[in-house]
Amino acid sequence: MEESVSSTENNWIKRDEEGIFRIAVDGPAGAGKSTIARMVAHRLGFIYVDTGAMYRAVALFCIQKGICTEDKEAVEQAVGEAHITICHKNGMQQVLLNGQDVSGEIRTEEVGNAASAVSAYPAVRAHLLNLQRNLAKEHSVIMDGRDIGTCVLPDAEAKVFLTASSHVRAIRRYKELKEKGIMCNLEEIEQDIIERDRRDMNREASPLVQAADAVLLDSSEMDINQVISSIIQVAVSRGLPIDPSVWR
Ligand code: C5P
Repeated sequence: MEESVSSTENNWIKRDEEGIFRIAVDGPAGAGKSTIARMVAHRLGFIYVDTGAMYRAVALFCIQKGICTEDKEAVEQAVGEAHITICHKNGMQQVLLNGQDVSGEIRTEEVGNAASAVSAYPAVRAHLLNLQRNLAKEHSVIMDGRDIGTCVLPDAEAKVFLTASSHVRAIRRYKELKEKGIMCNLEEIEQDIIERDRRDMNREASPLVQAADAVLLDSSEMDINQVISSIIQVAVSRGLPIDPSVWR
């Protein structure tokens, strides 16, 4: 598997093994993890790693190859051919699938639902695990996903479980799609979210679950800035040495 981290920014905190600080953010679909984690990374000078994008890239690979994502055996057999590379440009994560930048293509509902299916297969999870861990070896990171605090980085310095009610999550997603001019239906979005949660929480391989040492944040009634400050506060309470002005 290919792995790389590159940056055009020079403000990332790159420290020796001992100085690295890792923040794990897990939670259900649509809880705002990526938007918030990206902003926290920017404030702290960390790299942001969106692991959902990697599962999406595997899902896209299957769709492109005409492999049914419900067919566990076929997906597990093919996943070795999906070479996923992560790089960063101007602080933004880019996902390359067999050398092609698929960062935009993986953002559809179709790919999201297919990602939820393929992510249940142990061989797919194993395929992505080293890539995820290696990204956190050299840089201080905030990594989001479903199993970061429980499986990928069980010894992360700070862990947050970010959630919100399914209704609030559906409304946020609905607004996002509307702003992009995409036709959508609120009830269908909420049903999709509930189905995705059900699948992510009930699968055998690394189900979505709050790590015992994670701090629970319910963002249903919080705005983005409150969530960002709360996450930084958790990191500080777990020993991240930063200037208070970063999270004022
Ligand atoms: O976060 P995002 O919606 O992009 O993730 C797509 C899907 O990938 C999720 O529904 C989930 O099934 C899967 N996923 C996972 N483990 C992760 C990240 C994402 O199973 N660490």
